[in-house]
Amino acid sequence: MPLAHLPPPASTRIALRVSPAAERAIRRGHPWLFDQSITHQSSPENTNRPGDLAVIFDSKRAFLAIGLYDPTSPLRVRILQARQPATINTDFFKTRLTNAILDRYDLVDPARTNAYRLVHGENDGLPGLVIDRYADTLVLKLYTPAWVPHLPQVLEALLALTSLQPAARILLRFSRALLKQPRNLHGLADGLILHGPPLTGPLLFQENGLTFEADPILGQKTGFFLDQRDNRARLEAHTAGKSVLNVFAYTGGFSLYAARGGATHITSVDLSAPALAAAERNFAHNQHIPAVATAQHETLAADAFAALEQFAHQNRTFDVVILDPPMFAHTQAQVEAALHAYQRLTRLGLAVLAPGGLLVQASCSSRISAEDFFALLHYAANEASRPLDEITRTTHPADHPITYPEGAYLKCMFARA
Ligand code: SAH
Repeated sequence: MPLAHLPPPASTRIALRVSPAAERAIRRGHPWLFDQSITHQSSPENTNRPGDLAVIFDSKRAFLAIGLYDPTSPLRVRILQARQPATINTDFFKTRLTNAILDRYDLVDPARTNAYRLVHGENDGLPGLVIDRYADTLVLKLYTPAWVPHLPQVLEALLALTSLQPAARILLRFSRALLKQPRNLHGLADGLILHGPPLTGPLLFQENGLTFEADPILGQKTGFFLDQRDNRARLEAHTAGKSVLNVFAYTGGFSLYAARGGATHITSVDLSAPALAAAERNFAHNQHIPAVATAQHETLAADAFAALEQFAHQNRTFDVVILDPPMFAHTQAQVEAALHAYQRLTRLGLAVLAPGGLLVQASCSSRISAEDFFALLHYAANEASRPLDEITRTTHPADHPITYPEGAYLKCMFARA
């Protein structure tokens, strides 16, 4: 049992009182409590450990919510349940996991897509915990050390549900923030196999009938950007006979769909050479599809901004330009710079877009609203005298449900210019 050595969750609970504003937010179902909103706590800060259960009381000293305490983060408590008391144990996790599993029935056609998000953290009542499925492997990723003491119960719950949700292998991943605090990981290694055989190579899976590989240990997120599945499918319909530039291409998700859609030339740009090597292999995995076999695919490992400037300098244009950058605004202080970066990307993208071409631009910064982002794209395009004729605006796919405002991060526009 790879988790047998973990210290069990503390048996005593931390009692908290909170500000009136936080009380209202929690009552409405908001999943977060920040340190600044705590007005009283039953035990001194330095005696509390990640994963201790915190019970939040309202101004009348009645139960308000129960959640996971994390002394290492200003996001001090992630709420597991509000309004009604709950016992946090294997059964509790089983119920939450069952709901998440049932919510995803019929969302994808299993004959064509066997990779999707099974548990989307806060939005599935399991804040800070994500589970992605890649074929028969589940990748469980933690975003707070508060989950570590509860892992044995989460695993037990998952294994009890394998008739609903078969899992030949379960693999554990930690967020970057967690990897910086090894003490709270109690010796657990990133990439640990919690169940099933070790991983001997890349994980192969199907997305809309295309074969992709994911590296769930060294890859970004849990190995693939599952949240862009619907946008990739939308793109496919616009690529017949076109030249396509896919900037921030990662492992070539948009590029493969463009190829199957009939694009003649595809250029994938990314800073990461290993990601582009995987993009090449993803093309190799799909050579049985005639359109993929005939499409010309080239990769360029470079900074996106520099590459776009270079193409413009060479007067190279493309019929379709995709801009899907990483999160630019990690903190509120970075929002201003992020807005400038998005604007600069729009300008550079339009400079290499053939007249009447298709621009696809996305943002995954939750601190920037969809409204601000889309307005910014129009502003930048107008400045460049390439006004955008919108085709569509999109958000999250159905396996990434959003239940609270800060949970919304993905927005994307398809437009002609
Ligand atoms: N569109 C991809 C996901 C993109 S994620 C998909 O559908 O799978 C963002 C990508 O941007 C990552 O692969 C990262 O390596 C890359 N990246 C980050 N900074 C970059 C930069 N300055 N120039 C080019 N690529 C960059």
